[in-house]
Amino acid sequence: MIPGNEDEDESRADASGEIRLPAAVDSTGPLPERVEIAIVGGGVMGLAIAYYLARRGLDDVVVLERGYLAEGASGRNGGGVRQQWSTEINIRLMQESVELCRRFAVDVGVNVWFRQGGYLFLARSAEGGEHTNPRPLTQRNPQVFESNFGLFRSSERCLQQLKEFCWRHLIKFVCDLNGYDDAMRSRLLIYSDAWFHVTRRGGFFGLHNHPNASWSGVYCVDPGQRGSGLLTFLNPMLASSMYLDAANASLRGAFASGVRQIDLEPGQLVLFPSWVLHDVKPYEGDGERITVAFNCWFQLTDA
Ligand SMILES: Cc1cc2nc3c(=O)[nH]c(=O)nc-3n(C[C@H](O)[C@H](O)[C@H](O)COP(=O)(O)OP(=O)(O)OC[C@H]3O[C@@H](n4cnc5c(N)ncnc54)[C@H](O)[C@@H]3O)c2cc1C
Repeated sequence: MIPGNEDEDESRADASGEIRLPAAVDSTGPLPERVEIAIVGGGVMGLAIAYYLARRGLDDVVVLERGYLAEGASGRNGGGVRQQWSTEINIRLMQESVELCRRFAVDVGVNVWFRQGGYLFLARSAEGGEHTNPRPLTQRNPQVFESNFGLFRSSERCLQQLKEFCWRHLIKFVCDLNGYDDAMRSRLLIYSDAWFHVTRRGGFFGLHNHPNASWSGVYCVDPGQRGSGLLTFLNPMLASSMYLDAANASLRGAFASGVRQIDLEPGQLVLFPSWVLHDVKPYEGDGERITVAFNCWFQLTDA
């Protein structure tokens, strides 16, 4: 909890609009009995709302956080701010966000190490050349750019962070499914190929799977316009729909027949066995659909 109604609340904006933050945020004090505004969730949204309310002089505000500040998506993201969106309002919001990030250290007194550079995936796809997959195999059309497979070998900090994020989830997933304990977990060595796709209107990626790997994954950087470019998994039980009636037409989970389509969300990671056939349906939106994909195979350290 961040108390906002202390007797001496230093976080209010003064007449000049400048804000003076409290030297330290007390998160252990008792909850007030009543407040004018209670914000649930201490992620970037909740904290930003509280901050801007304080700037406007509203001081009877608490932020209620069930765990610790930024324990949700706000503490896990890649920290990217980009401005190429398909709607004007999103572009304007992001332009404002860039300005906000530029001023953040001055306004708030916290260095967020804001740096401006190109958007890595788009810059590399525009550059082509060494970034391009030299031996494309799966059917696709020119609206899909596929990078080479060394993406996670790049020393770019953002890519190393993304790799760490993917591996953390993959290892947990693999250990849960195999019933591995911490000792086994620490012996797992991951080998991998990783690449990215930038898909523009009309782009599709044909049916394929990934031989010589055990687990594969797709991380969604940006789905572009939602509702198209669906990541589609073919049901491996090919004969499961040979006879459908009321008793089996609505089976769920592992017994379901038909395909499984995923309308990817930003930041979503989809893990699947590499043998499962999948494709990407045509992307019909504006802007770019950007995904990172990887194949993994494992060894035990002393095997
Ligand atoms: C892996 C990943 C990468 C991302 N990369 C980017 C990026 O590069 N650029 C970008 O702009 N965005 C990115 N995002 C998205 C961005 O992080 C989120 O949109 C943003 O952080 C959402 O903020 P929030 O405050 O709405 O939610 P959260 O940060 O999830 O905060 C919600 C908070 O509410 C708390 N809470 C929930 N229920 C209760 C309750 N009942 N009582 C009290 N507290 C509660 C939770 O503990 C949590 O702390 C990424 C997201 C992920 C997961």
